[in-house]
Amino acid sequence: MSKPTLFCYDAFMNTKVVTRFAPSPTGHMHVGSYRTAFFSYLFAKKHGGKFILRIEDTDKDRSKAEYTDEILRVFEKIGISYDEKYIQSEQIGRHKELLQKLIDEKKAYISREEAKDGSGTIKDVIRFHNPNKVVVFEDIIRGSISTDTTDLGDFVIAKNINEPLFHFVVVVDDYDEGITHIIRAEEHIANTPRQILIYEALGFTIPQYAHLPLVLAPDKTKMSKRKRAIPVVDYLEMGYLPGALLNTICMCGWNPGTDQEIFSKEELENIFDLDKIQKSGAVFNEEKLNWFNREYLKMLKTEEFWELAYNYLPKNKDYLNNSDNTKNILNKIENIIRNKIDKFSDINFLFEKGEFDYFFEKPNVDISILSNKDQNIDDARNNIKEIIKLLNNNNVWDYESIKSSLWEFAEEKGKGNVLWPMRVALSGKDKSPDPFEIAFILGKSESIERLNNIL
Ligand code: GLU
Repeated sequence: MSKPTLFCYDAFMNTKVVTRFAPSPTGHMHVGSYRTAFFSYLFAKKHGGKFILRIEDTDKDRSKAEYTDEILRVFEKIGISYDEKYIQSEQIGRHKELLQKLIDEKKAYISREEAKDGSGTIKDVIRFHNPNKVVVFEDIIRGSISTDTTDLGDFVIAKNINEPLFHFVVVVDDYDEGITHIIRAEEHIANTPRQILIYEALGFTIPQYAHLPLVLAPDKTKMSKRKRAIPVVDYLEMGYLPGALLNTICMCGWNPGTDQEIFSKEELENIFDLDKIQKSGAVFNEEKLNWFNREYLKMLKTEEFWELAYNYLPKNKDYLNNSDNTKNILNKIENIIRNKIDKFSDINFLFEKGEFDYFFEKPNVDISILSNKDQNIDDARNNIKEIIKLLNNNNVWDYESIKSSLWEFAEEKGKGNVLWPMRVALSGKDKSPDPFEIAFILGKSESIERLNNIL
């Protein structure tokens, strides 16, 4: 594990890296949030440090336990583990103590004001004594960022002593948890100068900041919780594999600087760093996710594939029962299914559509599609007669022997004139896997029966 040298300068030179992910559980979280989590996790791993999960639930009205559960579930599923977990609201005692300290030191003050809701009520709020200075910080991704904080005025840091607000509690918690590197979304850049002023007022060491680029939809507009973004939990439910999701999320704004395209989590833990993160917005591309997922599907062993795939088989198809015959056919068509899907929920869709019915039930063949465009119906039937004869003579029933028993005849009559009617007779479909494969899967007697039915 390399030592944290590049980014851990100043006060953290000799300190272990500590990062955090600090979600507010007020809604489903999309890829942008999990990217923040994953990058913070990876950075800590890369530098032999610690990764902390902090649930920021101080907004009582909007925070919901179900969203916290969702974060924990997704973390577990995609393999992001944390070393420590904190719940922000549980630190209220500490928040109050430091709020009082700032008031006592005249760095904050209670201000009696009319509520902004137009009700005319008078309320106390706690405002921060802004020293009105220029705050400069070195963002690891963006370089030096300078802000004149005068325009911010004496900003509010608590509704009252019992209700400290976002900027204040984030600073206190980050300090108390020993966070050395704050890796978070670009939208927090504007919050940083206020938070730095609070750090200074409390006499705390200021951490390093890295503000990640925006996550964009394919049309290059901003993706956000509210706008179009699909919650990551939904991607998992659709049957995307965790590795594919992690790779897609990781490549959203970061690149390895090499041609390697697929990385295991362990590889990323070793090679990830913040120096290869781009400043400009990064597109989250579902096409790319599908590509990664197909690659990850290829890596699944048969048992692994079915363990997951079974859950996506529709419940309303009688032929999809627990019988050995069904299992047998499913195993035989595994590769056909694998080649047709981007993600597991496609299995449900394809079965519902009747895409694989013919493997389980005799098809209703529409005779008008039996003949290829170059032949008439009688030629098609005659070819089927010959196919039956040749297949009957075939004692070994595997893909190669089926193919070689028919190949000469197919070449003599024109491949389309033989294979097309055979495919239609076996599957009832004008598009399907090649007819040798269907015949192999159906077995000799079933294949010959179907061919005979056409005659
Ligand atoms: N709770 C904040 C959010 O969900 C993040 C705070 C931070 O990263 O500093 O946007």
